[in-house]
Amino acid sequence: MSKTPEDVLKMIKDEDIQIIDLKFVDMPGIWQHCSFYQDQIDESSFTDGVAFDGSSIRGWKAINESDMSMVPDANTAWIDPFYQEKTLSLVCSIKEPRTGEWYSRDPRSIAQKALDYLSATGIGDTAFFGPEAEFFVFDDVRFDQTENKGYYYVDSVEGRWNSGREEAGGNLGYKPGYKQGYFPVAPTDTLQDMRTEMLLTMAACGVPIEKHHHEVATGGQNELGVRFATLVESADFLMTYKYVVKNVAKKYGRSATFMPKPLFNDNGSGMHTHQSIWKGGEPLFWGDGYANLSQMALHYIGGLIKHAPALLAFTNPSINSYKRLVPGFEAPVNLAYSQGNRSASIRIPLSGGNPKAKRLEFRCPDATANPYLAFAAMLCAGLDGIKNEIDPGNSLDVDIYDLTPEELSKIPSTPGSLEDALESLQNDYKFLTDTGVFTEDFVENWISFKLDNEINPMRLRPHPYEFSLYYDC
Ligand code: GLU
Ligand code: MG
Ligand code: MG
Repeated sequence: MSKTPEDVLKMIKDEDIQIIDLKFVDMPGIWQHCSFYQDQIDESSFTDGVAFDGSSIRGWKAINESDMSMVPDANTAWIDPFYQEKTLSLVCSIKEPRTGEWYSRDPRSIAQKALDYLSATGIGDTAFFGPEAEFFVFDDVRFDQTENKGYYYVDSVEGRWNSGREEAGGNLGYKPGYKQGYFPVAPTDTLQDMRTEMLLTMAACGVPIEKHHHEVATGGQNELGVRFATLVESADFLMTYKYVVKNVAKKYGRSATFMPKPLFNDNGSGMHTHQSIWKGGEPLFWGDGYANLSQMALHYIGGLIKHAPALLAFTNPSINSYKRLVPGFEAPVNLAYSQGNRSASIRIPLSGGNPKAKRLEFRCPDATANPYLAFAAMLCAGLDGIKNEIDPGNSLDVDIYDLTPEELSKIPSTPGSLEDALESLQNDYKFLTDTGVFTEDFVENWISFKLDNEINPMRLRPHPYEFSLYYDC
């Protein structure tokens, strides 16, 4: 049930809510926030927005005019469970106050433009997205590169592993080994109560919850199941998901991380993303093609595969992302599609003969992605496939990990590094900008932001593993 500004203002009054917390997503995908006393929010806040200084927000500082407006979406209202004082949370999009236009570097506005573009093509009128974000909960994390110590250590009461130490110490009873975490009951699983609290807290924040469980990696890897939703709503839910997971973990004296590959030698954390297009309440991906897919769905897959190397600059936007995309850990390496085969980067889940459940699962993304940008970019790639009738090639119904090197060489693979993905994006971004969803300025800014803030600083720093390789030379 959607909420109107009137509903929200009435709620503030009826429940005597003093503080309204306005949240918005920055370019890398982190929520920023500012809290207002209740008399600062009125009818006009929902149209013109509330002023803030945009010059200190990462990736936005290039603008000459620093005044910006955050415009809350009434539909995103929930009571923030992590504050003592009753606080109403509202998620905002960003406007340029001078022109009244949505800001072209605002990820949430870009996501809305992707949905608008879908309608403008006439292909569909809504796109559903369902991300599955995995994460680790750690007891102790320390890293110290400041004095070139190369020190890196993570620990969990649950798992056998340790990074940065020779072997796990202490009592190893009930601690699963590498890839043994899916999913024995307590006492092996020690995180049940924490996950339940995370799930129920999310529900109280309006996220449609389904389930939770321990994941495959040794102690500490988890996944909470959330129902799919329309593109922007689903990205909003994912932001709430990460916020709740991190804050509940903190309450338990631990920290949660969505980094894709925190542990060498064990499964990483992905954010498989289910997607489908609908029109007039009817699903468009069901048909009489391979795995009950429509021709439209197959072309959408063709677009995803064709643009995947560039797409990954948004869906897998961290240096660490590419440490996950290696063979042997349930993460996709090859760009292929298949029914039910989890080693393909695009899986067509069995939908039990139900057209409404027909969707595809792109398995590459991870949760370092800004969901607004990642979902918008995936939709643009898929729509490019539909418009240009891109053939996805043959399906792969064997375990890709079992193929010979010669067979494998015929299948395109995911980029090997963030640098490769950014280079692919540099050479293939028209599918994003020709739509009007992304501007060239945005793409260029994204590439230079990643080079200046991640790739180049990383290149300058000695890595812990370099110490074991070279220290004694
Ligand atoms: N953790 C795996 C990944 O990195 C996915 C495991 C699963 O199938 O849920 O994609
Ligand atoms: Mg999973
Ligand atoms: Mg999955």
